[in-house]
Amino acid sequence: MIQHPVRSVRRAQPATPARGRLQSLVQGGRRRPRRIAMLSVHTSPLHQPGTGDAGGMNVYIVELAKRLAALNIEVEVFTRAICSDDAPTVELAPGVLVRHVTAGPYEGLVKEDLPAQLCAFTHGVLRTEAGHRPGHYDLVHSHYWLSGQVGWLAAQRWGVPLVHTMHTMAKVKNAALAEGDTPEPAARVIGETQVVEAADRLIANTTEEAAELARFYAARPEQLAVVHPGVNLDVFRPAASGAPGTAEARRAARARLGLPADAAVLLFAGRIQPLKAPDVLLRAVAVLLERRPELRERLVVPVVGGPSGTGLARPESLHKLAAQLGIGDVVRFHPPVGQAMLAEWYRAATALVMPSYSESFGLVALEAQACGSPVVAAAVGGLPVAVRDGVTGTLVNGHDPADWSRALEPYVTDPELVARRGAAAARHAAGFGWDTAAATTAEVYAGSLARPVGRLTGTRRLLA
Ligand code: UDP
Repeated sequence: MIQHPVRSVRRAQPATPARGRLQSLVQGGRRRPRRIAMLSVHTSPLHQPGTGDAGGMNVYIVELAKRLAALNIEVEVFTRAICSDDAPTVELAPGVLVRHVTAGPYEGLVKEDLPAQLCAFTHGVLRTEAGHRPGHYDLVHSHYWLSGQVGWLAAQRWGVPLVHTMHTMAKVKNAALAEGDTPEPAARVIGETQVVEAADRLIANTTEEAAELARFYAARPEQLAVVHPGVNLDVFRPAASGAPGTAEARRAARARLGLPADAAVLLFAGRIQPLKAPDVLLRAVAVLLERRPELRERLVVPVVGGPSGTGLARPESLHKLAAQLGIGDVVRFHPPVGQAMLAEWYRAATALVMPSYSESFGLVALEAQACGSPVVAAAVGGLPVAVRDGVTGTLVNGHDPADWSRALEPYVTDPELVARRGAAAARHAAGFGWDTAAATTAEVYAGSLARPVGRLTGTRRLLA
């Protein structure tokens, strides 16, 4: 397995195309791609994250693509058109082009319908490439298994490496399902297994995710590379005045959001679905208030985000749960917001709470910390990397509301602990810049060009 140190922060230099093309060709003796096809079939980097199919993967693709472009690697992102108004191409940033591919009707298809559209999508991708001179793309980087299926064929046809990022894995999700939640189908497991076999490199967010790829999907060590995702430190930064984690630092954001200056704000941000377990936060708050009723007048629990995944079947269930638990006065629901406004929510929070059952990384944990908010998170997936237990927040084992209420209580009652952990959180998150993640990803690309190891290689020669 390839391990990459990713803690140092490095600012990107602006792209200078003339110099850049030469530089990107050969870096440290290894060839880097000049232009890559990035595949994001089921969700677009242009969509608002925090609801439906748009979440961390969208943010990941936007940030990674922009930083790769700054390293003089042009990125073209292929995504499915879902609206007749979608222009065929949209420039997301200099060097980053989004291509809308027509594959099935614009509206009315859910993610589960998309396996039937992969042939049409692949056709669109291949046709685009065929309109250019051979060698237009040096590499394919696919995201999520649906894109991996398309990347498998495209990379083989073009004779270039396939680099794949899973984002989530059916077998991992199914092993840690919330009670009553619907498992991922066998067809997805089969599709993921095929992509793992085909890929020249598999980028995992953490060593734990790399180990899961090996354990559940038989990924080989030479395929695996670990790259920690980043956080946009220009958007997600501590308040301009006041030390992170202090009431002074929270004041301006709270005034802007209409939150009381002296409240204890336990924030949930992200897609509302059983996997993210916002219900565990609500149940824990109910337990806490039963034990400490005097905290009720200070406690505010904002839930920022919209329904997603299996949560779409019962979008009102969290509202109903709050009412059933008798905490309807404490919980406030807010629709998803853009990144700048979300940063205000993090700056206003006493702590961010993430009781997820499974998380391939959990970008909101990094974002909140970068804004100076400590994080109380489940000890699953990437969260033990994102959060330093007892230093920048608290990691909780399991999902028992009583355990969660005990973990949350000090954040509600002990301002000095919040200040100490808020300051440590901001320092910790500052080590996760996207520039570092992009530079490391570019190294993975160079490695795959120098030494492709996917099980495609033989067939690729036959087709070339
Ligand atoms: N997000 C957002 N607006 C919202 C809620 C969430 O832009 O109202 C973004 C957030 O900034 C984060 C992403 O959605 O980058 C969620 O990523 P995470 O890795 O936490 O979860 P995922 O959605 O990938 O499961």
